[in-house]
Amino acid sequence: MSLLSADQQLTKNSYYAATAPREQRFSALGANLDCDVAVVGGGLAGLSAAIELADRGFRVVLLEAREVGWGASGRNGGQVIAGLACEQSTIERQLGEAESRKVWGMTLEALRLIGERRERFGIDCDWRPGYLSVAIGARKAGELQAWQQHMQRAYGYDTQWIAPQDLAAWIASSRFHSGVHDPLGGHLHPLKYSLGLARAAAGLGVQIHENSAVVALEPGSTVRVRTATGCVSASHVLLAGNVYLNGLAPMLERRIMPVGTYIVASQRLDPALARSLVPSQSAVCDTNFVLDYFRPTVDQRVLYGGRVSYSTATPMNLASSMQARMARTFPQLRGTKVEFAWGGFVDISMNRAPDFGRLPNTDARGSAKAHSNVYYLQGFSGHGLALTGLAGRLVAEAIAGDAERFDTFARLRHRPFPGGRFMRTPALVAGMAYYRLKDML
Ligand SMILES: Cc1cc2nc3c(=O)[nH]c(=O)nc-3n(C[C@H](O)[C@H](O)[C@H](O)COP(=O)(O)OP(=O)(O)OC[C@H]3O[C@@H](n4cnc5c(N)ncnc54)[C@H](O)[C@@H]3O)c2cc1C
Repeated sequence: MSLLSADQQLTKNSYYAATAPREQRFSALGANLDCDVAVVGGGLAGLSAAIELADRGFRVVLLEAREVGWGASGRNGGQVIAGLACEQSTIERQLGEAESRKVWGMTLEALRLIGERRERFGIDCDWRPGYLSVAIGARKAGELQAWQQHMQRAYGYDTQWIAPQDLAAWIASSRFHSGVHDPLGGHLHPLKYSLGLARAAAGLGVQIHENSAVVALEPGSTVRVRTATGCVSASHVLLAGNVYLNGLAPMLERRIMPVGTYIVASQRLDPALARSLVPSQSAVCDTNFVLDYFRPTVDQRVLYGGRVSYSTATPMNLASSMQARMARTFPQLRGTKVEFAWGGFVDISMNRAPDFGRLPNTDARGSAKAHSNVYYLQGFSGHGLALTGLAGRLVAEAIAGDAERFDTFARLRHRPFPGGRFMRTPALVAGMAYYRLKDML
């Protein structure tokens, strides 16, 4: 089954789609347009860039193949998390300590940006503060505490260590050993947030076109992006298509791997039971490599995420297997009905660091020259809800002439997945089997 048809199935029964009506629709591109920047992709990365570019006075056209927020941005776990998907030590090794501290600082800016945008654009998206990392077993707890102490010492980042004897006050589950609470993280309704950003972008003059898949990209000092029904000519282009670019930039696609992850929403719970599960109402995530992530909603449900799939096929019995997973953490939810089950694909890079950059320029004979005016953002590796906001800002800064912060990320080295497009899945499955085993030890 192709990734796109698997994905169509996965969007059908989403809690988010059921609770965030689309009040604004955008027409398909039906003409040839000129602009300063064409943005490909109406997820959080593309929308954020569009807003930041419009703020700087650029004329922006955003082309979305389906609907804004249709991809990962409108269906994710809603967990707003500091930092990157990779360990900070990956950044330290590649960029050195001083640059690594700058990167960490930017990830905190990404958290603040969500608050600023909610306020500036009046986006009501069920925001709740607090993010709780929990460790299963003493070994994982040791790693978590070492991380917490390193972040405190090297980055001055303050979080609260929750010792085993105190954990019951934070989570009504005996599955976990200890944890760390981060008051700067939190959670929100990602589709309401994405639709709010689309409204904001349109209000700032960004021309948004839905049902406008870009099928060809013609490089040059003026880049042409073509859809079936029109063409946009732009001085700069941003590719923010996540795992869905579908052949538009093969060089990028080799550097990320689509990995399926799934979420269920329980029926509405008795309010007292709902409050008791995570008394602080924080988002929760365990520290396993193949992790479980969950959170209470404003309407007294539990959203429970986990499982992974390296083929594009949706797992069998998705709702019942996720129900069992939820009940393993919260036995008090055994017998609770699951009302929604959905999922999506995350764009994992080999080292799980984000992959930002510009496509290489290609001259008439096809040899690669310096960088082109086509930017890209990908490789958020399941950690992009906040980071996409910052990424969009960095692209806008670079296009406006100050590429220092963008280039800090662009200097991170990435390798393509071994085995190319068709063999990368078995290679990754073998790698993941190893990490799963490590989770169990
Ligand atoms: C199930 C799930 C749970 C997750 N949970 C979390 C979480 O709790 N916290 C967290 O931080 N992150 C989480 N993530 C990751 C996070 O959602 C992503 O990192 C982020 O949304 C990526 O945003 P994006 O704009 O890059 O991609 P997307 O939101 O996928 O947007 C890309 C858009 O580009 C469009 N597009 C692609 N190609 C073309 C083309 N040729 N022409 C026009 N349009 C095109 C697509 O239709 C799509 O709408 C999760 C992801 C998933 C799938």
